[in-house]
Amino acid sequence: MKALVYHGPGKKAWEEKPRPKIQDDTDAIVRVVKTTICGTDLHIMKGDVPTVEDGRTLGHEGIGIIDEAGKAVKNFKKGDHVLISCITSCWRCDSCKKGMYSHCEYGGWVLGNKIDGTQAEYVRIPFADTSLYHAPKGVNEDALVMLSDIFPTGFECGVLNGQVKPGDTVAIVGAGPIGLAALLTAKFYSPSEIIVIDIDEQRLKAAKKLGATQTIKSGNGKAVDKVMELTDNRGVDVAIEAVGMPATFEICESIVAPGGHIANIGVFGEPVDLHLEKLWSQNITITTRLVDTVTTPMLLKSVEAGTLHPEQLITHHFRLNDIVKAYDTFSRAKEEKALKVVLENR
Ligand SMILES: [Zn+2]
Ligand SMILES: [Zn+2]
Repeated sequence: MKALVYHGPGKKAWEEKPRPKIQDDTDAIVRVVKTTICGTDLHIMKGDVPTVEDGRTLGHEGIGIIDEAGKAVKNFKKGDHVLISCITSCWRCDSCKKGMYSHCEYGGWVLGNKIDGTQAEYVRIPFADTSLYHAPKGVNEDALVMLSDIFPTGFECGVLNGQVKPGDTVAIVGAGPIGLAALLTAKFYSPSEIIVIDIDEQRLKAAKKLGATQTIKSGNGKAVDKVMELTDNRGVDVAIEAVGMPATFEICESIVAPGGHIANIGVFGEPVDLHLEKLWSQNITITTRLVDTVTTPMLLKSVEAGTLHPEQLITHHFRLNDIVKAYDTFSRAKEEKALKVVLENR
């Protein structure tokens, strides 16, 4: 079969690889139908994720059809349509018992990281019973792929950790796919204002279309003033960080209202100043989280019910064979006006 294989920083190839085999009775082999590329994959390509070794098949998002189920797999059989969770969970270890699948002792984020991932014609999924979901019948497949990672991530790390409530003023710093997933799922709670901040005009336009009440172009040092102006100098109840850079986290620190929440989603590669000299008395909370994907069943129901349309974030479609081209498009997101790209294995 063909797979997108990482060969060290800056090097990848769409190449022939042996088809994965069942290793444990709890595994399933899934024929990938659709997959996508994540910002995290670009981090890996830069060499930022040292757990990814030369020879690894990338990808942690996708939907597919069960090709083979191990002897101990009870919930799935050959031919079933499934959603692959980006987080593998055993449902037995202490972390899993707390609902913190992201820190599963035997899983967590392993796909396309510590084991071969979904950017291939076939993928082996460990703990298939607890790491796959049945694809609801008749649901848009593009929408489903967005539930592997970005929607649970935006929702859990941004909206739930930020405790978005009806009437809240919410700011989302970063209008990439994750920030926009946070925007769409924040709307579940009817906040009164959703202010989206980004340096890219195109992405702000997309945010506006998806329901942002205000958009602010940053990068000129005026974003904080603008937010304070829009909120009568009060700041925001919830500041969601969806970029992963010191400057964007510091915007969140400057705009959070007393009693508010800073919910971090961004992946950080460098330290950030925590301005406790201003924040010590402000009754705020700061949260961090790696997505647990505990809300995937709820998000599936929302998509099935037509109250959530994750496919709105997809800007490009490619054949899986053209994945190298898709990486190129995705890595030049600004010029290409790309949000999410979907790859289809046909
Ligand atoms: Zn991802
Ligand atoms: Zn576990």
